[in-house]
Amino acid sequence: MRWQDSTGRFGAKDAGTLAALVSPTEGESFLSAASEGAMLLADLAAEAVARAISEHGDGALLSLPGTEYGLPCLYGWKGVRTLALGEAETFLQTMAIPEPSSPDCLRTIGENSLLAAEIAEAAACISGSGACIGFIPDSEVAVHGLSVVDGTIPGAAVLLADSGHRETAEGMAAECLSRGMLAMVCWDSGAGAPACDRKHFLGEAAGAFRSLSFAVRVALSMGGVRPGDRKGLSSYLDKRFRVAVIGTGAFSRLDAAFFSAALLHGASVVTDRDIPGAPEGVSCCEDGRRMVIRAIEERGIEALDAFPDIPVRYGPEFEGELVKGEHVRLVAGGDGAMCFELLTSADGDAVEDGRVHLIGRDIGSFGEGDRVPLALVVEVYGREMHADLESVMERRIHRWINFAEGVWHSGQRDSVEIRVSGGAHAAGFVLKDLGRIVVSMVKREFGRTVTRVQCTVVTDPLEVGARHPGALAAYRRRDLRTEGLKDPSVDDFYSCSMCRSRTPDHLCIISPERPGLCGSVSWLDAKAGKEISPCGPYRPVAKGIEKDPVRGEWTGVNEAVRSATAGAVPRVCMYSIMDAPMTSCGCMEAVVAVTADARAFIIADRDYRGMTPAGVDFPGLAAHAGSGIQTPGFMGIGKSYIASERFISAEGGLPRVAWMTSRLKALIGPELRRRCEELGMPDLLCRIADETVTEDAEGLAAWMEKVDHPALHMDPLL
Ligand code: SF4
Repeated sequence: MRWQDSTGRFGAKDAGTLAALVSPTEGESFLSAASEGAMLLADLAAEAVARAISEHGDGALLSLPGTEYGLPCLYGWKGVRTLALGEAETFLQTMAIPEPSSPDCLRTIGENSLLAAEIAEAAACISGSGACIGFIPDSEVAVHGLSVVDGTIPGAAVLLADSGHRETAEGMAAECLSRGMLAMVCWDSGAGAPACDRKHFLGEAAGAFRSLSFAVRVALSMGGVRPGDRKGLSSYLDKRFRVAVIGTGAFSRLDAAFFSAALLHGASVVTDRDIPGAPEGVSCCEDGRRMVIRAIEERGIEALDAFPDIPVRYGPEFEGELVKGEHVRLVAGGDGAMCFELLTSADGDAVEDGRVHLIGRDIGSFGEGDRVPLALVVEVYGREMHADLESVMERRIHRWINFAEGVWHSGQRDSVEIRVSGGAHAAGFVLKDLGRIVVSMVKREFGRTVTRVQCTVVTDPLEVGARHPGALAAYRRRDLRTEGLKDPSVDDFYSCSMCRSRTPDHLCIISPERPGLCGSVSWLDAKAGKEISPCGPYRPVAKGIEKDPVRGEWTGVNEAVRSATAGAVPRVCMYSIMDAPMTSCGCMEAVVAVTADARAFIIADRDYRGMTPAGVDFPGLAAHAGSGIQTPGFMGIGKSYIASERFISAEGGLPRVAWMTSRLKALIGPELRRRCEELGMPDLLCRIADETVTEDAEGLAAWMEKVDHPALHMDPLL
């Protein structure tokens, strides 16, 4: 595990220190090597800081590029976000030198090594002598950290190798990837590992420490760990972020220092060298073929079984991939073509485990770019299975299908669109593979609850139409379960982070009266989802102190959103669209938007293809509302929220709505009529225009005058 310095981070004067750090040790004990390594790292950091002071003065602030956390490890472990160069100099001089006999000796060595490496890197960056190649930016931490925390990625492997063992380590990295893990690699030859979404090249020299910066930022941003809460950080990393370090090749003092830091972060370490005096947590496995499995076992990582056996590559790294334009071979749903998905539980006898059935034509018999109807009907059985879990599993279909290379999925329930690329089709992908994905992933993620799964893929238009009413009835039954549950009657709301892989600054807050904006996650669904999958995307959010009952602002909700977005979204008002509205991803069922004269709102559903009186069509509205940015006056919602008494109550609620698509009126007509009755305005729905009345602002203004719309009697919104 020899590291060299081709990055130029360390200057020529440091050459002797560096050589002592990276040279193979000859029979030196682990503790001695680690202690020496920590001191040598501190020397290198001190030299880098001195050099930076001579160029920039001692007041210049140290921070790493690509992160909001300044010096993330220092922030996580000590609660100090950044240091001026002069402070860094003092900090390094006063680092505690542990007594070899003290019980915390190794932890202190690990922490000193980590912080010295981080300061050295930041000082090199400020001097421009280190490009920080291999540092993982916050944007990637958000994507992959979330997958690790919610269990989609079961753990991370950090692989170190010297030049003689790089090929072996490459093979180990591939094995880790195939088991669904994140692989962070650090070695000293070649231009870098081949790029792959779940494989990070950490750079050379002390680059391995960057893997720990990644872990610390996951704890701070997603684990709710407070900066400087050492106990909380330790506990979180131990329980939630499972890291296995695998080292091959010669053993150096830098390795020993890094291993000590890795142990501090709850990692297990497996090397192919028998290191004298190796502490608990560091073990030797000389059989290179067994090192990965040994590391996985030592750290207790629940590495996954194989992904679905389909002809295209599969994994979370393909989730953000778009399939569009001339690359589309087939589209199911959208633009008038029905496409729905439904997962229900069934009697054991009715479910033949693993059965995937196609009713209708397959992809090869359709024309290039054809748009077709499709239904994905999934039936599951398990003794522990119950109806509350159906929608939780059904909502996961969105991600599972997006994991397939060349296949894209959006929407939910009966607003689904699925695209298959020409490349996927050429590789042999057929429509039954959609079913194979779902069957395999239900078992993989919910195997403790579900023991049998079967899936029917339907493309026959008559059959899709015949099955659709049953799906609508099932969705309706689910929605009715939350009726009667009110926001004031619960102490906790829930957050859902499922869409953060695509929209990192978006977090849905789900209350009894406001479902997730995709419409398929109610408060009860999130509650059940949390129970069945504690590390999944749903988290309880204690409401905390009520700051504003009309706008729906609570301290606990603000804290949850602020923490999840690293401060990018500081507060959210649950019942307002004009003041700190909830952010949106791209999954919204409908968008609410303010009219140009700021007197009223319009609402368009995602299947609406025409123009709206706001002057844009649905994609235009979604662009205003989406991307995880708060845009007052624009907000994505789940359609059932419209009939809630909390619906934008800060701005007047349903009586503020002057225009709504006719499809929405039809879909939630009974609920809307009931709400109008509650408001004492039984004719309100008739006074809300739709596209059959007008599609432009002038027409809407005239309509509002004609029907004496209630919004005309309210205060202007701006
Ligand atoms: S839209 Fe919201 S509730 Fe729905 S899956 Fe995405 S984050 Fe979860």
